[in-house]
Amino acid sequence: MEREAARRRIETLRAQIERHDRLYYIEARPEISDAAYDRLFDELVALEREHPDLCAPDSPTQRVGGAPLPGFAPVRHAEPMLSLEKAKNVQELRLFDARVRKALDGASVRYAVEPKVDGVSISVRYEDGLLTRGATRGDGATGDDITANLRTVRNLPLRLGPGAPPLLEARGEAYMDLEGFARLNERLRAAGENPFPNPRNATAGSLKQLDPAVVARRPLRALFYAVGECRGFEAPRHDACIDALARLGLPVPQLRWVVDRVEAAAERAEEMKARAADLPYGIDGAVIKVNDRGAWPRLGARARHPSYAIAYKPPAWLTRATTRLRAVTVQVGRTGALTPVAELDPVFIDGSTVRRATLHNFEELARKDIRVGDAVEIEKAGMVIPSVVRPRPEQRSGAERPVAVPEACPTCGGPVARRRLADAAANGAVLCCDNLQCPAQRQRRLEYFAQRAALDLEGIGGIVADRLVETGLATDPLDLFELDEEALATLNLGTTEQPRVFGAKNAARVMAALERARRFPLDRWLYALGIPGVGQAVARSVAAVHADLDAVADSPLLRALVEREAARERLRAVNPRSRLRPPADETERAERTAEAERQTARIAELEAELAAAPMPEVGPVAARAILDFFGGAAGQRAQRRLAALGIRPRGGGAAAAAPGSGRLAGRTFVLTGTLSGFTRAEATERIRALGGAVAGSVSRKTAAVIRGESPGATKLREAEALGIPVLDEADFRRQILGESATNDQRELKLNGENP
Ligand code: AMP
Ligand code: ZN
Repeated sequence: MEREAARRRIETLRAQIERHDRLYYIEARPEISDAAYDRLFDELVALEREHPDLCAPDSPTQRVGGAPLPGFAPVRHAEPMLSLEKAKNVQELRLFDARVRKALDGASVRYAVEPKVDGVSISVRYEDGLLTRGATRGDGATGDDITANLRTVRNLPLRLGPGAPPLLEARGEAYMDLEGFARLNERLRAAGENPFPNPRNATAGSLKQLDPAVVARRPLRALFYAVGECRGFEAPRHDACIDALARLGLPVPQLRWVVDRVEAAAERAEEMKARAADLPYGIDGAVIKVNDRGAWPRLGARARHPSYAIAYKPPAWLTRATTRLRAVTVQVGRTGALTPVAELDPVFIDGSTVRRATLHNFEELARKDIRVGDAVEIEKAGMVIPSVVRPRPEQRSGAERPVAVPEACPTCGGPVARRRLADAAANGAVLCCDNLQCPAQRQRRLEYFAQRAALDLEGIGGIVADRLVETGLATDPLDLFELDEEALATLNLGTTEQPRVFGAKNAARVMAALERARRFPLDRWLYALGIPGVGQAVARSVAAVHADLDAVADSPLLRALVEREAARERLRAVNPRSRLRPPADETERAERTAEAERQTARIAELEAELAAAPMPEVGPVAARAILDFFGGAAGQRAQRRLAALGIRPRGGGAAAAAPGSGRLAGRTFVLTGTLSGFTRAEATERIRALGGAVAGSVSRKTAAVIRGESPGATKLREAEALGIPVLDEADFRRQILGESATNDQRELKLNGENP
């Protein structure tokens, strides 16, 4: 395309994508399907790649995260970012109201009421409408420059709408919506990693990541309820100020009111609490502000709190409670991680009784100095496992005992060691049982192997897994494939006195499930092997570009990923512009500059290699873990046994199916809408791996249309007109990919085939 035409098209695409981002992320009323959106996005990416000089920092393509940072630069806030004074009851609100009215000579005062969003404070600066800087609150006077990370937050406009002032500093909160948080933890847990205790923690941890590409995959959102330094932006009243932010395209709180009396403010706050479940973020009370911004300076200034606002949170709103820590027990996970669990005096928090809570890990336990017998504060946030926040040392009697760090595994008595788990989220080492033969680990590994997302061996879980390991019938997941049906049928799940056997019917069902699992594709097997750091998404990404397990075990791509990270780290270490470690003199500067150039060139080389077969979900830590696994004894043993069992899972990589061969050879499929289990690229890879093809539009030759969530109306209409079968995701898995999860033997009936 000619440059000028390309420039115009790029502008149109950016404007369209920005509009659809706003409709989707801010107004929650999308107008086009995800597929149509993806097409716009892909076209923009392609055009920008063709014309690198037309790339711009505010292009929506820049949200995916830039290069890792050596550290965060400090940002001084022109106006300090303060905390808020607190009120626990209406009485305290009345005192606040009295003080305000006194300062304003008894004038009548209107109050704005809005949620106190439970996230992490941020400040985002727009100059002439362009996002130029984002920062954390830090100590209130100076924060960290986290611009690169905030750019990845999807509902944060990179450019404000029409009418943007020369300077606007929007202040608000970064948060993780509860659904996104649950999914992130699911992902971490599936990968054998430590979940975050609550969305606020997850948000803070994500914003502190030095690699914006990691941040881009975290489900962060932003919300604004204030302004800082501004030029050309005037709003005499707080509600009008927030309306103005919304008009400029910034996300603002949904629940907002302006009332005449402070008692009415308290009522609105109660209403807000009642509707809190509908909000995508957690709330930590309500914030009540004097609505007349013109009056704010007259209220006087105080060091730590603004005088015009107060946070209101009655004790009944608390999702925290204090109870006694009776004992600390230890859970052994699949990877051997020892997790301390708090056994508590039962306490009622936010709708349910809590008896146990996680203490996360022994380091944290020691750091917080939590002792058995302590009064401890428990927190329950959303659907998260309750956790112990802190002890209340002022309530100690002297009888409390420190928690002993286990010197041996509580299950097997084996040695323990500190290990670093493959986990970008949990920093630091974790105490682990080092005995691979540990029955607890074996049981959890068996369960993991059998779970639905892995090999879907219904019936092999909980007590069955425990007994299989105890009796020695199956101590390693792959033993299941040599399990004797009779022995399984008579496995005793009860006691010697009161036996209760697994049963013939259940055993037969497990055998059938094992038969099916043999033919499962590479991604399911990779996941089932339980390699630390390898969750479903990682497994799919890896499987899409590798032919089989041997190819994964010996993957140049995974090695390139690891090497690229090493080169990036080296680059960070020598960075001649580092603010933290500036070169001592000119000689050192020159040396470091030369080394930085070498590393940059190496990175570019590796990127080119990786671009040929992208694995969007795979980071260096997971790549390293996979290579280590197959390089180690456990991985090699697994590979040998799979070969002996005749199990050869297939992936989508090059050698998997020559064109013109494979079960789907000669057949063309059309995808529409969003599939829950695959990205568009992964679904395409899977079809290609079986010899099929994927097309963008429906024609007489289409074998079938595969529909996901919010499918395109045109494709469905055309399919109907031409009598082409439309399959949902379950049909797709079962009939096309052959991942039969049930005993469904229905024939694959596609368009253009003889009955
Ligand atoms: P605190 O740190 O508990 O004193 O509370 C002050 C913090 O509350 C601010 O720094 C903001 O990050 C946060 N906050 C959340 N929602 C609001 C809101 N609607 N107005 C002002 N601050 C808020
Ligand atoms: Zn053990």
